This record gives sequence, structure tokens and C-alpha cells, in this order.
Amino acid sequence: MEISDILIDWYGTNKRDLPWRKASDPYIIWISEIILQQTRVAQGKDYFLHFTGRFPDVQSLAEASEDEALKYWEGLGYYSRARNLHAAARQIMEQYGGKFPAAYNEVLSLKGIGAYTAAAIVSFVWNKPYPVVDGNVFRVLSRLFALDTPIDTGKGKKEYTELAASVMNPAKAALHNQAIMEFGALQCTPQNPACMFCPLQSKCLGYASGSPLSYPVKRHKTKTRNRYFYYLHIIYRGKTWLNRRSGNDIWKGLYEFPLIETEAPVDFAQLQGKDNFRQLIKGAGKLSVSAEASDIKHVLSHQILYATFYKIKIEKIPESLQSCIEIPCYAINEYAIPRLLQIYLEK
Ligand code: SF4
Repeated sequence: MEISDILIDWYGTNKRDLPWRKASDPYIIWISEIILQQTRVAQGKDYFLHFTGRFPDVQSLAEASEDEALKYWEGLGYYSRARNLHAAARQIMEQYGGKFPAAYNEVLSLKGIGAYTAAAIVSFVWNKPYPVVDGNVFRVLSRLFALDTPIDTGKGKKEYTELAASVMNPAKAALHNQAIMEFGALQCTPQNPACMFCPLQSKCLGYASGSPLSYPVKRHKTKTRNRYFYYLHIIYRGKTWLNRRSGNDIWKGLYEFPLIETEAPVDFAQLQGKDNFRQLIKGAGKLSVSAEASDIKHVLSHQILYATFYKIKIEKIPESLQSCIEIPCYAINEYAIPRLLQIYLEK
């Protein structure tokens, strides 16, 4: 039996029952794929139902405001993906009259859709023979063929894409792509591949080498950066202030309390000595300060945030807050805020 037939057989018996599995609507496949790029299937299900409950089709997403799309994405992280979904939905309305394009290159031209997502959409929906190459597929192929080309290089990506295409049965692209991804997620897992019970064992060079875990190979180790966030939850007569994040950084478009970021951890006395703190609070009169949550560790890809929240009651509204949005304290949850702020508010 060919590798593809074995994978499809295995898939028939072992696949999970997921809400998007029966879908033939490219919009639904698209949303599920973008959500699954950043969360595990178990959590992804709820986010998927929440998002598609409010935005069941391209039109409803395109007609919503970006703020609302971000609000429904809340908790998933990688907010640029929600902004791209929203922009691409508008692109589909304008360029394709609201009908999801079926040609691979047209799908690839949509904002935020890369080769992987485009291949997933056109193969799952229209059975077009484009191979998906995601982390699961890299792992399965690198082990099966004991490939030591690093996957995080241009050469590696090209080699793996060609290999993925050659392994795929083009007449069964939809089933094959879903099968190999599910196989990587459930059978050939990163740390505990179930080699003893694997239908591909006799064909697997990684298994034959005695060290399947040494595949796939990566060249670059990802560097992690520590950041120190000090949030000022300023309160005056039941009101508080939020800023909308902008610039090329995490959480663009989301709302947060006025923030002071430092290079290293500081205590409140040191924070008060900072120019930006003094400017922010100038003219606020006497401050009544309490540290509501200290050193909350929040891990993002490539960054670890250490956040402290100070609740600060003021006597007068300082001029600096004119550049922020003034809202009643109870209304914070109406704004799209990062998960980190939710954690604080839940406390
Ligand atoms: S034998 Fe082990 S390493 Fe090889 S494909 Fe199966 S589970 Fe993966």
C-alpha cells in the first residue's frame, strides 16, 4: 500500500469529530484554519463556535467593524490575524462580489492567507491537488524519510513542499491532506510518537534510525525577549482611561490602560521617578496607589511579559489623559482588550 492510502485508512478510523470537519464552505474552513494556527483543537472549538456564531459568513464579517472582529477574537492572541480576516472579508466583497474565490492564486492573494491556508482551503473544499505543509506535516515527512534539511530555511520549505506533493494522491487531495495533518497531531506527535502501533512503521526511516525524535531538524533557535509592563489603572469618580495600541508591536488595535514599559523590573518608587510616569500623572493631585497584581507572567511567542497593575485614584484629571479614551469603569469589557488585562480584571 502507498503511504497516502495508509494515511487515509488510518484517518477513517481515528479522526476526531470536529465542528468544521463536515463543512464544505470555504469561509468556515478558512476561519477554522486560522484559529487552529494559534490554539489547540480542544480550545479552538469554543473560539470557532463563538466567532462563527457572530460572523457566520463573509458578508457578516465584512460588514462588522474591525473593533468588533477583534472583540470576538479576544483571548486567541495574534490579533493581526483577526485584522487580516476582517480585511480579507472586505476584499472578497469588493473584488469577488462576496463569493469566496476558488482559484489557488486568488485565495493566496487574500490578506493574511499564506501557502498553507490557501492549500488547505482549495484542497478541503474543491479537492484541488495542493499539498498542505504545516508543523504536523513537516514532522511526519521528516521522520518518514529521515530528512535532515532544516525546516526553517527556504531550501527546507521548498524540499518539503515538493515531497508533500509527491506523497499525496492528487485524486484524493482533500482526504490525504486532512489525514496527514491529523496523523501528525494524534499519532506521530512531537514528543511521544506511537511508533509501536504505527501503520507506517515498516516504511519509516526515522523509526529505523532508532531516533525518530531527532526529526525534524531546525537551524535557528528562537530567541525570547523579556518585557516589563506597568499598567496604570487610573480611577476618578467611577471613570477610567484606555489607550488603543498602535505601531508595529503586539496587540495592535486592542485597548489597554496607560502603560509604562521598562527595560528591567522596577518598584513603584523607581517607576515614579521615570519621565513618562511623571508626565502622565502631572496635575493629578494626591495619588492613592495600590498594587493590585504584581509580576503576572504572560508568555507570547518570542516574548515573555511581566506585568504589574497599579490602581491609582486621582484628585484631578491630568491633561495627559486627554489623548486616552475616558470610559466608565464598568464598561471596560465592552472593549477588545488583551488576555493579560482580562486576567487582571478577573482577579
Ligand atoms: S513509526 Fe513513529 S516516527 Fe515513524 S511515522 Fe510512525 S509514529 Fe511517526
